[in-house]
Amino acid sequence: MANYEPGQDRNVAALNILLMCDGFLIMKKLTREEKFMKLALKEARKASLKDEVPIGCVIVKDDKVISRGFNKRETKKDVTSHAEIEAIRNANKKLDNWRLVDCELFVTVEPCIMCMGAIVQSHIKKVYYGSSDPKGGAVSSSINILEAKNLNHYPSIEGGILEEECSTIVKEYFKSKRESKKIKLG
Ligand SMILES: [Zn+2]
Repeated sequence: MANYEPGQDRNVAALNILLMCDGFLIMKKLTREEKFMKLALKEARKASLKDEVPIGCVIVKDDKVISRGFNKRETKKDVTSHAEIEAIRNANKKLDNWRLVDCELFVTVEPCIMCMGAIVQSHIKKVYYGSSDPKGGAVSSSINILEAKNLNHYPSIEGGILEEECSTIVKEYFKSKRESKKIKLG
């Protein structure tokens, strides 16, 4: 029950309950998938600090993170340096193997055609992503690469893990880019 002081506005008391509920939601226990997505988000923030589109990725094997990566396209001036490719390269080195069988990939944004190609080629078992990418997503938004026939591997896919958080970080990045452009022009 609301513990409002005598004479306190009922609306204020109701608001307190809402704030308590909100606090509860923030403190709710994260699922296994959300915990790994949080680590991918940490990578995305590293990209943001380097003025790169904030997308991050981690690769997990036997419930342990074996590799991390974030978008470095501008830093490396390399079109292939998406977060997933960076993480896949690191995992290949770590396992000394191009096959990433029994590995799971967590990425904050739906993978593009190039990254889905690398995911299929490396035999990654499952892909979890945060927010969808209507312009370039190759899982469901733009095209679905898994509808291609006769691939030698079809990873499982699950989207919408911490979707809001994954989408907000990208939106905020583009918003601040637009604002700094306006300041320069002004
Ligand atoms: Zn990509």
